[in-house]
Amino acid sequence: MNVRDLYKRLLSYYGPQNWWPAETPFEVVVGAILTQNTAWRNVEKAIENLKREDILDPASILETPGDVLKELIRPAGFYNQKAERLKRVCQLIVECGGLEELFSRSLNELRSTLLSVNGIGPETADAIILYAANKPTFVVDRYTHRVFTRLGIWKGGYDYEGIKKLVETEISPDVSTYQEFHALLDEHAKRICRKTPLCESCPFKDVCPSVSF
Ligand code: SF4
Repeated sequence: MNVRDLYKRLLSYYGPQNWWPAETPFEVVVGAILTQNTAWRNVEKAIENLKREDILDPASILETPGDVLKELIRPAGFYNQKAERLKRVCQLIVECGGLEELFSRSLNELRSTLLSVNGIGPETADAIILYAANKPTFVVDRYTHRVFTRLGIWKGGYDYEGIKKLVETEISPDVSTYQEFHALLDEHAKRICRKTPLCESCPFKDVCPSVSF
């Protein structure tokens, strides 16, 4: 099983996932920060709070007092850190002249700009670039590592840049393919290749070297 075969089989088994669940690119940015270390259902509650208060835009978030912002995003957890990260990203967006201006930068320039923001790591930066800016960078996460390792596609520990490079070498850059592949890997890890895997129901049980039942 190679990376490309895995993508094709995941797509035919689960169908298109059509990520990211958001109405605007800025909502993707906010979701990418809020989803750090928490389940998506908690992020949804926090985003609903921001929408209800009508502050889901960079200028409004910057104007909102820190303690109010923290309370609104509390459902997403780690709300002190996340409020500060949101403010820092909003500051960057405003200083750049808006999200469109920021996203008009080349992929590499945009990535290094996002990574220079305290609290924005490669996974968050790549999620913003892929799903908000629609530029072809692959997003790696712990689910990617779990599935790749069990299927024998990746050997070794969690190496974000190494896994990203492997995917980008085997699948040439394409926004919708990378968007789908990341979403499909998460779906598979959540539904079947869980921490305790449900191998009997797995579409890869015929080829997986880690199959157990
Ligand atoms: S067979 Fe089991 S370990 Fe292998 S990919 Fe499927 S669920 Fe994961």
